[in-house]
Amino acid sequence: MIYFDNSATTPVLPKAADEAKRYMTEVYYNPAAAYSPAVKLERDVTEARAVIARAMGCDKSEVYFTSCGTESNNTALFGTLRAVHGTGRVIISAAEHPSVYEAAMELREMGWDVKLAPVLETGEVDLAALEELITPNTRLISCMQVNNELGAVNDIAAIEKLARRRAPDAAVHSDGVQGFMKYDMPSCSLYSVSGHKLHAPKGVGALYVKSGVKIKPYLIGGGQESGLRSGTVNTPGIMAFAESVRDFSQHRSEYVRQMLEVKKRLYANLSRIRDVRLNGPDMESGAPHILNVSFMGVRGEVLLNALSEKGICVSTGSACAAQKRGKNRVLNACGITGDRQDGAVRFSFSHLNTVREADTAAAIIEEQVAILRKYRRR
Ligand code: PLP
Repeated sequence: MIYFDNSATTPVLPKAADEAKRYMTEVYYNPAAAYSPAVKLERDVTEARAVIARAMGCDKSEVYFTSCGTESNNTALFGTLRAVHGTGRVIISAAEHPSVYEAAMELREMGWDVKLAPVLETGEVDLAALEELITPNTRLISCMQVNNELGAVNDIAAIEKLARRRAPDAAVHSDGVQGFMKYDMPSCSLYSVSGHKLHAPKGVGALYVKSGVKIKPYLIGGGQESGLRSGTVNTPGIMAFAESVRDFSQHRSEYVRQMLEVKKRLYANLSRIRDVRLNGPDMESGAPHILNVSFMGVRGEVLLNALSEKGICVSTGSACAAQKRGKNRVLNACGITGDRQDGAVRFSFSHLNTVREADTAAAIIEEQVAILRKYRRR
């Protein structure tokens, strides 16, 4: 099988899986308990927090464990706004993941003045248009670091500078689920990450909250995670996450180089097929692990199924949006519509992929595209 859907999830690093197992079967205590093995476990969790903090370049007191990227994003949006008296403006980019976009739509229902900052055709937020939207009563700006469908990379530090100039009280949140470790954490108030995109198991994520940023809990209960996120922490997931981050930190440049090489090779192969369009940024400016191309005259879902039969796993971007033709919100925001949207397929890579896989997959794709195009013309 060739697995080119690493933006959906990644295989768990064996060392991380071993670590998770050990913390399920041997060191299974509740870290909030008072006896000594639990106290020792609490210290292990603190060390895991420090590993994530080092990778982010922040203090461990600024890292809160959650259950996933979605929870981190929801906590960032609802939590910071719960700490604001009154209402005001909230700005998100038009290409955000549903865990930010739908949360923002909910905020709109609650009375917040939610604005969508337009994106360019490549998927990056239009900084000039974003600047125009920032009013002094803007309370929160949320913009993803790397777009999960197109691999567009946003300059979050520039957005933070705009915010400081025009709305000094606004918090700047960035969804780093696709960007974490491939890029440094940008200067911002809040940053969301997810373990399963980085070879840790599903069910663990983290939220960076810069010291001094006002935030109220979203999950209320026993007061774990310094009161920000109640609920017994997922110790096996956390320990595995730390292991996968440690591994990625040690091999970062090698891993990123490998992903980019596979991406470039696949695109070089695919661009030899007639009527193929690149969506998103060019090879050098996009994220190293995401490639989105349209096969004109072919429906992305049909190609996905044909490739699945041949043992190649890809995606059409956002699974929920792909159900209805022309309804991909993110591609629509980028002006990628009609046949180009219908034919869009996302390939996403990890360091485990090889150039050979890129060659094999491209040959099969070329063959399937030719069959599907012939079929369509009849
Ligand atoms: N944000 C982005 C950009 C994503 O790509 C994803 C998952 O695909 C998420 C958030 C949600 O992360 P999780 O699956 O950990 O909830």
